[in-house]
Amino acid sequence: MSSKRDYYETLGVKKNATHEDLKKAYRELALRYHPDRVPAEKKKEAENTFKEISEAYAVLADPQKRALYDQQGHSGIDQKYAYEDLYKGTDFNTIFEGLGDYGLGGGYFEDIFGDLGVDLLGGNGRRRQQESTGRVAPPRGRDLEVAVSVSLEESYRGTEKTIAVPRYDTCPVCKGSGAKPGTDMTACPDCRGSGKKVVSNGIFQMAQICPRCGGAGKIAQTPCDECHEEGRVRVTRTLTVTIPPGVDNGSRLRMKGEGEAGTAAHGDLFVVVEMLPHRTFERKSSDLLVEITVSMSRAILGTEVRVPTMDGGVMMKIPAGIQSGSTLRLRGKGMPELRSKGVGDELVKVRVQMPRHLTPRQRELMEEFEKSAVG
Ligand SMILES: [Zn+2]
Ligand SMILES: [Zn+2]
Repeated sequence: MSSKRDYYETLGVKKNATHEDLKKAYRELALRYHPDRVPAEKKKEAENTFKEISEAYAVLADPQKRALYDQQGHSGIDQKYAYEDLYKGTDFNTIFEGLGDYGLGGGYFEDIFGDLGVDLLGGNGRRRQQESTGRVAPPRGRDLEVAVSVSLEESYRGTEKTIAVPRYDTCPVCKGSGAKPGTDMTACPDCRGSGKKVVSNGIFQMAQICPRCGGAGKIAQTPCDECHEEGRVRVTRTLTVTIPPGVDNGSRLRMKGEGEAGTAAHGDLFVVVEMLPHRTFERKSSDLLVEITVSMSRAILGTEVRVPTMDGGVMMKIPAGIQSGSTLRLRGKGMPELRSKGVGDELVKVRVQMPRHLTPRQRELMEEFEKSAVG
């Protein structure tokens, strides 16, 4: 049982409240319970109330969450969403837009919600701004993924592959500073050299890394001609990848630091293996499947046949009386296991071929055989 108050009651709205009603109610309550507007001894209480109303608003403002709450109440919500997920997609920013500066202190938002990673400004403000200006690379570059085709033989022995990887790399002209070589850097006008920018939505203030300078506090006086101040350029690099024995479809090989350049570090490159089909063998993880055919008489009498393996042909005993469809195992003749010393087996499926036509002599022998079998 949940002891939580009803969300509608918390916001003081009716069950059929419109989105606008919710917004209005929440805005009024948020202003009333802002800790900077209540006496010191009531701060803790106000903070709890503020959390309560924020949660109620976050749920009711989302049609999906609201429907679930209407049907199943708090338990429905609690089962489906982690606490911090309640706030996902809630753009608190629009609530406080146009309210102007209430003269309320900053840092409050971070105190209350900072540990949840909840962003009352809506989404990841910093990343959004970086993407929209496109001027500053993220601190750690993006991870990249490239596919590489590998044959069964290559997977068996391991190999090296040369791949072309297009990526952002540190600008060779300015070495990443973004400034034309020989020119000076100047304090970033957006953050006045602090590298941080205080963003306010009218009620809350929070410090973000300055999107203009990416936190460096400095920008180029004269932008680099090569990268136009970004500090990185798009290049296609040729890399040699070591493909270890045993890779299979979907194996991901990580090449640390071979991803895109960021302002502080490169991301990683993931090489994803795509296995090419083989004309003789079918692969089932580390086992190999192959099919051979023996004649009826050899199946009856027992024989030895040459069976293909990844290491060349080997002679394999076929016991007398083998049934068509039986599988024989060649231990250790399969594929090596990736990152272990294990080796799979080769599974040999034996098909017994019945003769379609018999010579008169063969027919005589078969009739004799039949008689002896009956008699
Ligand atoms: Zn440059
Ligand atoms: Zn700046």
